[in-house]
Amino acid sequence: MGQALAKREMDKGMKQYHEQRFAEAVDEWSSALKKMTKARNKFEALGNICLALCDLGKYRDALTHSGLQIEVANDTDDPVLKSEAFLMYAICNEKLSEFTKAISYCRYCLQTEKVADRTQSYAHLCLGNAYVGLSEFPKAWGSYTKALTLARTKNDKFLELMTSARVGHMFSLLTDYDTGLAYCCKAWDVVSGLPEGDPHVRYRRLLAVYIATPYRRTGRYNEAMDYCERASPRYESAYSIMSETGDRLGQVEALSGMAKTATSQRDLAKATELNVKALDIAQKIGNKLEMLRCHARLRTLYAATGDETLAHRHFSVLRQLLDEMELLCGVCDEVVGERPEKLDALRCGHFIHGRCSDYLARSTLGRAGKTRPCPACRRKSSENPALYT
Ligand SMILES: [Zn+2]
Ligand SMILES: [Zn+2]
Repeated sequence: MGQALAKREMDKGMKQYHEQRFAEAVDEWSSALKKMTKARNKFEALGNICLALCDLGKYRDALTHSGLQIEVANDTDDPVLKSEAFLMYAICNEKLSEFTKAISYCRYCLQTEKVADRTQSYAHLCLGNAYVGLSEFPKAWGSYTKALTLARTKNDKFLELMTSARVGHMFSLLTDYDTGLAYCCKAWDVVSGLPEGDPHVRYRRLLAVYIATPYRRTGRYNEAMDYCERASPRYESAYSIMSETGDRLGQVEALSGMAKTATSQRDLAKATELNVKALDIAQKIGNKLEMLRCHARLRTLYAATGDETLAHRHFSVLRQLLDEMELLCGVCDEVVGERPEKLDALRCGHFIHGRCSDYLARSTLGRAGKTRPCPACRRKSSENPALYT
């Protein structure tokens, strides 16, 4: 009796979900969950609730439900369900900027004795996002490459769209806006090819934000505006939204924006305070790129106020971070991502300047299979980047 009612509520919730009435769907599924007795049914209801809560941006609630889903999966002792639950837990952690936890749970997911193909593919995407969160770009590139290959072999358009968008975002972070834009445009093409009414069409808005960044940074404001009317909402309101949803990386970005505004208004004391606050959050979540940017801004601010000791201290931390992030080009030993320019990713995940890849290409001539070790890590053989663009 109760089970039949639960089934009807599950179906109703699904219908609401497809109509993007996420909060109503959560209520419906939660009510169904209370009536359920079988572990498998509970697993499905909890999974649906997590998805809808993520769509609502309620990542903390989603994480709680995801924890319950892991408990249910452990009861069933079904490895496929366990791996699925681990992935959901990883995704929620990634959204909450708990990148190290996200990586651990992706690993648990992939190490489960039996993992569905789809779960595996999305685990690689989540791993890539978490590595970008920690600014471990070579590892991120490796995970994204796996996700993209799987998306193409399985013809999973949604995975391809999400991965291309995130790869584009990563290149924009490394200030290679042309490559960033190329990946984002690939994702845009996928989303534009979807029939109207496809549930994935709503990702168009997210994509618009990613695509607007490289356009804005390369000075093509008109194109940026076409994609996104409000790519950068007021920093103060963005900051409060990010605090509510627990998006700490977003908080760092908003605080950095506020700090830049204060600097341009010559309010150096306020700018310093905001940068210190941003640095503190960036350190807590372990995002080295944002830490680096905070240190760079603080260095300039202290130099401007004549405090050479503090300026120098920030500079030395900055150099150390660059080393840790492996953001030095293996060919010329200069910094990668310091100013806008084309980059090439080698198979091992290391990035080199586009202008340096000719040099690398020449030095593969005469070598077996036209390959040579990556100049940075030397361990893995790396093909001439010009051959697989
Ligand atoms: Zn170089
Ligand atoms: Zn390498």
